[in-house]
Amino acid sequence: MLAYGLSGEVLPAHPRSRPGELLSSWIVRLARANRIKVHALCARIGGNMAPVWNRDVDRMAPPWLIERLALLTGRPVAEIYETTLADLADKIDTDHHPNGNSTWLLPLGIWHRQRLKFGLQFCPICLRMDEEPYIRRSWRLAFYTECEHHHTLLVDRCTSCGKPHAYFRGELGDRNAIKAPSMAICTHCGFDLSLAPIDRIEWPDWQTSVAVRTLQFMNDFGWATLDGKIYEKTADILLVLRQVIRILSSSTKDGQLYDAVADQIWPQGYHVLGSRGEPYERRGVIERHRLFGMAVWLLQQWPQRFETCVQIADVRRSYFLNGVIDLPPWFVSQVQGGGHRGRQRR
Ligand SMILES: [Zn+2]
Ligand SMILES: [Zn+2]
Repeated sequence: MLAYGLSGEVLPAHPRSRPGELLSSWIVRLARANRIKVHALCARIGGNMAPVWNRDVDRMAPPWLIERLALLTGRPVAEIYETTLADLADKIDTDHHPNGNSTWLLPLGIWHRQRLKFGLQFCPICLRMDEEPYIRRSWRLAFYTECEHHHTLLVDRCTSCGKPHAYFRGELGDRNAIKAPSMAICTHCGFDLSLAPIDRIEWPDWQTSVAVRTLQFMNDFGWATLDGKIYEKTADILLVLRQVIRILSSSTKDGQLYDAVADQIWPQGYHVLGSRGEPYERRGVIERHRLFGMAVWLLQQWPQRFETCVQIADVRRSYFLNGVIDLPPWFVSQVQGGGHRGRQRR
């Protein structure tokens, strides 16, 4: 029997990727539609030695895999590439290392075939509404902490057993099993993740809610808007947000900015940060949500809020410019000049 793909043969069933679907989710559905085990399909695509599941295949997006999938399904290479995190990283022009840490992309912490980190979030309601549950690419994006359709906080682990969602493992352990549970089922404990409890975090005013959501739900990433201004490059505003988040969560005394901002947003009391100095992508969904929203709040009513909080927290202004060379001029000039003018006023 000819192995699929070796002859360039198109698979009998080749469902198209669903809107916003992640590559690995589509591969799982492809295997199931053809009644092949996921692992067997991957072996047929790239040979038994080809690493697929013991790597972050969505982030690495190996060209051989995408080309072979294009042959097997008749779908264009460009369309398949659009399901990868590598494509997402290109679009937000972020610092992307296929084998290492990537800015704004959640790490899976892969060890053999296990996922040790909570790098995949999901919306229980989306999974419940899907005819055939599938995994969205945006659920791997670190600042995408709320569902754009249901405005609920995403969930980053099974709420029954506490493990990361390993949707591709449904059929492991049973040599002959091809029928696997839906991608809404936790493969560790069998809990239906579409029934996971949902939560919302509200911002103090509608302007902040709208600003946070507008940035979180950018889909083409070509431009962005904040505080009534349009930014031609989304990467510029993300870079600024990144710097602000770095200081909000810093382990140095500059991290008092967090308390200064939180005091203004939640004067009746606020949650302190679990750990200082931890990279943004390694934090849980609630802290990522909070930090991103606080940074957005601080950049609104520019530069009044920024100046007020920087002065209250007595942040070293040069710290905002550390380690990044491409920060936009409006931010650099305020950081450099605002403090000087402030001191003159006193
Ligand atoms: Zn949803
Ligand atoms: Zn579970």
